[in-house]
Amino acid sequence: MEGGIDKGNPSEQVRIPHKFCPYCGAKNEPRVDNCANCGKDISWIEIPEPVPTLETPPYKPEPLPPQREPLSRRALAIALSIVVVILAVLLVVLLLT
Ligand SMILES: [Zn+2]
Repeated sequence: MEGGIDKGNPSEQVRIPHKFCPYCGAKNEPRVDNCANCGKDISWIEIPEPVPTLETPPYKPEPLPPQREPLSRRALAIALSIVVVILAVLLVVLLLT
């Protein structure tokens, strides 16, 4: 059984521009020559080309450069603990001597 998701749906939505009558503002079909509302000649109105609904490509996140901050933080913590241990040892040695 195939089906479910249709790929390449031919019935894509295409925005068909309309003629807007400059005299009365009525919306007319793009092929008409006279306004359906007031009957004036609107055949001279230029119709913009139909704009297909293009899907904007999803934003591609650029690969982030490797961050060394966590490593340096951990290294800093380790160095700090080592310093504390050394100081404690020195203190103990000084106290014992
Ligand atoms: Zn009109």
